[in-house]
Amino acid sequence: MTRWSDNLPERLLMGPGPSPVPAAVRLAMARPMLGHLDPAFLAIMDGVVENLRWVFGTHNRLALPLSGTGSAGMEAAVANWVEPGQHILVVAAGLFGQRLADAAARQGGAVDVLEVPWGTALDPGQLEDRLAHTQVPYHVVALVMAETSTGVLQPMEGLSDMVHRHGALFLVDAVTAIGGMPVDVDRRELDVVYAGTQKCLAVPPGLAPFTASERALDVLRRRQTPVPSWYLDLSMLERYWGGERFYHHTAPVSMIYALAEGLSLVRSEGLEARFARHRQASEALAAGLEALGLSLVVDPSVRLYSLTTVYIPDGVEDAAVRGRLLNDFHVEIGGGLGPFKGRVWRIGTMGEGARLEPIARVLSGLESVLQRQGGVGAAVAAWHPA
Ligand SMILES: *Cc1c(COP(=O)(O)O)cnc(C)c1O
Repeated sequence: MTRWSDNLPERLLMGPGPSPVPAAVRLAMARPMLGHLDPAFLAIMDGVVENLRWVFGTHNRLALPLSGTGSAGMEAAVANWVEPGQHILVVAAGLFGQRLADAAARQGGAVDVLEVPWGTALDPGQLEDRLAHTQVPYHVVALVMAETSTGVLQPMEGLSDMVHRHGALFLVDAVTAIGGMPVDVDRRELDVVYAGTQKCLAVPPGLAPFTASERALDVLRRRQTPVPSWYLDLSMLERYWGGERFYHHTAPVSMIYALAEGLSLVRSEGLEARFARHRQASEALAAGLEALGLSLVVDPSVRLYSLTTVYIPDGVEDAAVRGRLLNDFHVEIGGGLGPFKGRVWRIGTMGEGARLEPIARVLSGLESVLQRQGGVGAAVAAWHPA
């Protein structure tokens, strides 16, 4: 009888996530099970919380990994901080911004959407304009820092000042940023921030790192209605992750091991070195793609280090190319979403993917499938600038 694990292919994951998981993290998940209230496990939790604060760049009391993927973090953010009837402004510059607007509306929020063309960043003047001219002040302004559907890294300078001046909380999706570029929660004065493990942290999907400022916790305490999600109610979750160790739900123990190991790898590399490596990877990939004669979607000034969008050349069939990359080269890249469907590929350089060797594998695969030359050489040259 064949079993599920027979002939499991080993892929190089260079799409929008999950990203490649290092062996040390995979092995961590095979360590013996502990009870979720065992003192030995509680000590591991404390280490995870401390390291999460460090990658988030925060001293917030509330920092923890939620059980669930990045979207659970999104759900928790809106379930706790959007009350029925409240005015919420969501900046939608791609699919994840749209999802955030949808999630906020499902909590009963009166959601306004500030649409930003796909492939570009929000112009702060536009936000200021919207905040200054709204009839009813917004409770929350939400945006995606690293938009994985478009490959844009939103410049954050000045935004939180603007949001706070207009009396709103600033809610930020950092799923594709965490571990690959600064999130800087305290310095940028972000109030509610969620992330995911399977992008630049190089940990399997399954947890959503989460943090909230004291300002956000004050707002939470003053809610008029109970948080509609029992599972994602942060005031209850905090009683387990904080000192009290109050039983809420069973922690996904093996996933916490994986995150503990992933964060300890980030510690040993150092944040600055890791951010520099992600930036270097993005530049090397861009050089390689351009040498193949391909055009990148996003202007270099706002290009996301962890995900590159590239136009599919005329006459080239999207699914056929991705299929050959997967089957012949065991390389996964992503297709486009929404208006980018069939028009762009999304190539991730996240975590372990942000190295020269995996980038060279993507480029040599593309070079071969598209019958072009010169991409790998250009990437090597860009990786080692003269
Ligand atoms: C991947 C991603 C999510 C969703 O995370 P899941 O782990 O797929 O639930 C949310 N926001 C952004 C920007 C993402 O890239």
